[in-house]
Amino acid sequence: MKPINEIYPLLTTPKKVVITTHQKPDPDAMGSSLGLYHFLKSLGHTVTVISPTNWPGFLNWMPGCDLVIDFEYKREKALEELNAAEWIFCLDFNTLSRTKNLAPFIAARPAVKILIDHHQQPEEAAFDYGDSNTIKSSTSEMVYDFIVNSGYQDRLSLEIAECLYAGLIGDTGSFRFPSASAHVHSMVADLKSHGLNHTIVHENIYDNYLENRLRFIGMVLLHRMEIMYEYNTALIAITKKDLLRFDIKTGDTEGLVNYPLSIKGIRMAAIVIDRDEERKWSFRSKGHVDVNTFARKYFDGGGHFNAAGGKSIESLEKTVEKFKQVLSENTLQLQ
Ligand code: 5GP
Ligand code: MN
Repeated sequence: MKPINEIYPLLTTPKKVVITTHQKPDPDAMGSSLGLYHFLKSLGHTVTVISPTNWPGFLNWMPGCDLVIDFEYKREKALEELNAAEWIFCLDFNTLSRTKNLAPFIAARPAVKILIDHHQQPEEAAFDYGDSNTIKSSTSEMVYDFIVNSGYQDRLSLEIAECLYAGLIGDTGSFRFPSASAHVHSMVADLKSHGLNHTIVHENIYDNYLENRLRFIGMVLLHRMEIMYEYNTALIAITKKDLLRFDIKTGDTEGLVNYPLSIKGIRMAAIVIDRDEERKWSFRSKGHVDVNTFARKYFDGGGHFNAAGGKSIESLEKTVEKFKQVLSENTLQLQ
């Protein structure tokens, strides 16, 4: 993987570009993709954003979101764009498998592949150029750096600012995680100078749910959360029946894993959701508890030191059993 700055001189010639991100995009995945989309369009490139799957409704306000192609919904159109692309930007994921069923099509294309990502241990061989930086708060911060370092800072616009700000607040927990550096705050100051109304972005993302989601959270905290004080760990397991009962959609479970971390002494929180094709795990931790390694080792996943995800093809009961068993192997880390 060659350094990303070798791309800057090539930005002057218009290209056919596809931008893609991980399945079930979150605010950072969608925000960084659309921020880059508006930037490249302003330079005269032909740009399409393809998402491997659908996304939460609370991202629909983002400028350009209505033009994003959902690969599962408009497969032919997506493949047509992918086949025509000279450049494929891969944002906010470290391995192609994070693009789910889109992965083999990206891998097969001869197009130049460019990675911009902040996850640990990227699959570097899959990309021609890239910027992989685990110190960075978010891929949105990295897209901002890309724009500034390319020499086209004058292209920053309100649209770009709104998209990138959404990614920043998503991945920094609204500036509370250690990754919210001085650079992140100076970036926000710059985005504000482009007219960003940060209050509206927060409202669009966090105050845009339906009543059923709040009722669902109430039920989950009362009946589905198990606290294991001996391991300083909390576990939430959600059944298919729960999802159906409360009509839970993509994005409605976002952030749920963080609730148990507000309990004094809890250092790790895990949630597993019984999705159709797999049992999807999310892990969050505080301080020295490394959930990236944990997710990688036991649940076919990965991510960041304090926030990671994984999956299992076993039943909900089996995968919960495994979680409890492997906790006992990690007691030292959890003290
Ligand atoms: P979340 O729990 O919000 O889905 O994901 C937390 C972090 O871990 C995100 O940065 C996400 O990209 C990453 N992640 C989630 N699931 C997986 C997975 O199955 N594999 C890998 N490698 N990373 C994941
Ligand atoms: Mn991210």
